Amino acid sequence: MSGEANPFESLQSQIDEAAVHLEIGDDVIERLKHPERVLETNLTIERDDGDLERFKAFRSQFNGDRGPYKGGIRYHPQVSRDEVKALSGWMVYKCATVGIPYGGGKGGIIINPDEYSESELERVTRAFAKELRPMIGVDRDIPAPDVNTGQREMNWIKDTYETLENTTEPGVITGKNIASGGSEGRVEATGRSTVLAAREAFDYLDKDLEGATVAVQGYGNAGWIAAKLIDEMGATVVAASDSSGGIYNPDGFDPVAAKDHKNETGSIVGYEEATEEVTNEDILTMDVDLLIPAALENAIDAELAEDVTADVISEAANGPLTPDADAILAEKDVFVIPDILANAGGVTVSYFEWVQNRQRFTWTEKRVNEELEALIVDAFDALVETLETHDIDNPRTAAYVVAIGRVANAFEEAGSFP
Ligand code: GLU
Repeated sequence: MSGEANPFESLQSQIDEAAVHLEIGDDVIERLKHPERVLETNLTIERDDGDLERFKAFRSQFNGDRGPYKGGIRYHPQVSRDEVKALSGWMVYKCATVGIPYGGGKGGIIINPDEYSESELERVTRAFAKELRPMIGVDRDIPAPDVNTGQREMNWIKDTYETLENTTEPGVITGKNIASGGSEGRVEATGRSTVLAAREAFDYLDKDLEGATVAVQGYGNAGWIAAKLIDEMGATVVAASDSSGGIYNPDGFDPVAAKDHKNETGSIVGYEEATEEVTNEDILTMDVDLLIPAALENAIDAELAEDVTADVISEAANGPLTPDADAILAEKDVFVIPDILANAGGVTVSYFEWVQNRQRFTWTEKRVNEELEALIVDAFDALVETLETHDIDNPRTAAYVVAIGRVANAFEEAGSFP
């Protein structure tokens, strides 16, 4: 995280920006700006050398008006209570934007997973699953992967939950591997929606995606899949970065070969098809048609935003722009497809996984991808319609207008207890 913005304050200001365009009472809006509850817990596990170590962990359940809480669990040294609260709120509005029947939640453990063995990570994960058990459930709160977690961690959580509950309930968590009840297409889903949304935006702006230049910041699961799929759509990936640095080739490079290089060496830096090494900042300010931030929050702050020259940004990461950067880019007419739509493919295919788990029936990859595409296209159309009918200049604000309207509607229909 390069910028200073507090992500929870960013979320609240995004809600305020949208509230201006909605006829919803301040009291209802106030309720939608705070999590319903946050678990803060300390996990103590035995290291491989026999010493004990304590890790702080959180789970925020932000809002459940539209369905069970839903959202990932991240492992990162910079996890904080406010970050988890913000990420859980973004999940609420993400699920509402694409119209899937979930509220929002998020969890995190303050840990750098690179410093621990697999068996230590398993103990930390199972300790967290034990703490989470009373608050999660197939109809209550359904965790999933996020930064530095994946199928392996989801399988451990599922197994711990099922063991403690003495049942089989694969839908208690999503993002599992196929053998444990995962869905086809889930791993690719975040990158897939990022590029589908970009395709729709190019179409809306009358821009040609064929031959368009693309820079990708972050080469984890979301970033590298987005690079691969946008290349398949005919665009040219000219630059990419990971936490060790960036690579550039004005004629483009093969995103899959760059990923192979990262798998072999630990980084994309040094990949032979790249003609130049560039910094993270170079990537974010590069003169490309499409920029895909796919790392952490606050990648682009106000200062950097002044230098951004991309025409379209599709946010694969959650919260990659500070609110100040967002305002500057809207002013500069950069079309920013907000995270709550662009990266919503992950949770959308999580929803398909949950549906399959509940039906004890599996879908083909083709069906998953077709249903995902239909939902993303519909969500993009709803965003554009709101942008135009409300005369809004920032697509993010339009997405929030749609999403907040849906959540507030569910709340008002249900009434309040007590
Ligand atoms: N962690 C992902 C996100 O931020 C996926 C969440 C999910 O599948 O529930 O959207």
